[in-house]
Amino acid sequence: MKDTDQSDGTLGFASSVLAVCAHPDDESFGLGATLAHLTGLGADVAVLCFTHGEASTLGKWSGPLREIRSSELAAAAAELGVGRVELLDYPDGALSTVPLALLSGEVERLACDVGAGLVLVFDEAGITGHPDHVRATEAALAASVDVPVLAWSLPQQIAAMLASELGLTFLGRQPDEMHIALQVDREAQRRAISRHTSQCTDNPVVWRRLELQGDKEFLRWLRRPEQAAIRAESEAPERARHGTPAHASPADDPPAHASPAEYPPAHGAGSHGHGGRFRELAAEWDRRYEASPQLFRSEPDATLVELAGPLVPGRAVDLGAGEGRNSLWLARRGWDVLSVDASEVALRRLRSAASSEGLSLGAVVGDLLTELESFDARHVSFGLVVMAFVHPPPQERRELLTAVARAVSPGGHLFVVGHHIDSIGLAGPQDAMRLYTDDDLARAALGLEVLRLERRRGVSDVEETGTDALLWARRPA
Ligand SMILES: [Zn+2]
Repeated sequence: MKDTDQSDGTLGFASSVLAVCAHPDDESFGLGATLAHLTGLGADVAVLCFTHGEASTLGKWSGPLREIRSSELAAAAAELGVGRVELLDYPDGALSTVPLALLSGEVERLACDVGAGLVLVFDEAGITGHPDHVRATEAALAASVDVPVLAWSLPQQIAAMLASELGLTFLGRQPDEMHIALQVDREAQRRAISRHTSQCTDNPVVWRRLELQGDKEFLRWLRRPEQAAIRAESEAPERARHGTPAHASPADDPPAHASPAEYPPAHGAGSHGHGGRFRELAAEWDRRYEASPQLFRSEPDATLVELAGPLVPGRAVDLGAGEGRNSLWLARRGWDVLSVDASEVALRRLRSAASSEGLSLGAVVGDLLTELESFDARHVSFGLVVMAFVHPPPQERRELLTAVARAVSPGGHLFVVGHHIDSIGLAGPQDAMRLYTDDDLARAALGLEVLRLERRRGVSDVEETGTDALLWARRPA
């Protein structure tokens, strides 16, 4: 990308631009004129949209809103000359409950994929102040992508007029906070907005705003080109793999949310072949949890505490998290934790415990193998992968162990513990086929550096008997 000339208020040229937004329509209602300007200059523009906008209460529609909004987005993007649209399935209205590292991982992946030279976002205050807008911009800034980040912003004067005319709050900027004034033609934007039929037919606010904005768009640098260049130099050696963050940075996370909510996995629940079996398993675990106010002990695994205690916190996944004894400990230590379990009942307990401690973590009801495949497909990996006392049948156990190892990012660690086959009759499942052998864990460690592969006296989540099989391994950086 050529350096952007700010002195005369024009936007320089980036041959590939990635726009990151929260809702289908943000790219048109908000960024539309700027995107059309860029495609008019010959840039390849891609749009990453985190949610399907299923929570919208605007306008009228018939039929499933998700699908409608998805096809509206495609049509609007075509009007703007946008070449590629990636519509993800994070929860509309609850983006701030999704771990930042997951969202920024999506940005990294697509930015690398399209070779973005510029990332375009909403003002970090979110323009309307919608928390999803704020989160989408946070995610773009947290991504380990060394490109300039430019934000669409609204002049304070226009925000004030909208407030007095319509009684709506917009978060505007003073003239000295904005760096680029772009002269735009709004024709393509108007056409794109009209494609969002479910959102625009009864939406006087957007039309009035455009009227007040006239043929000007104001933009502000959240990361200037020269800052991006410095970042690229200082971080280059840290990043070992294309599209993988050097580390997650929970320190960048906003303060803990009142109630971390479940969000759906990135694919439909019924999209995998063993959906029926998963539902049975989930129901069985829900029953087990419901039968007791607390099924498992609440202290974290002592060996995990010993081994992971000294690590610098990053992004972690806890597979088969249950009521969250390990997840909660990790979150207290500052890890950006994603907890996955088949049981909604268990995760509800986990969320409530997290929220009472003011901890922020993501909790997903899902099949472990399916979730791991989804991480793999989306190039999402973790600085720490934990799987404690998960005992599926042998074939699935082997697949799981291969998948957990793949989910470890370079320099990251894997902790697996389960009942050893020697425990048969003493601890764990009564079916010997479901117990861990030494070979199982050795195979899981292929490609990793084994730090500990051993048996320990059984100290599982319930019993203190029998023998546990334990693996602690690291992926070379
Ligand atoms: Zn929006």
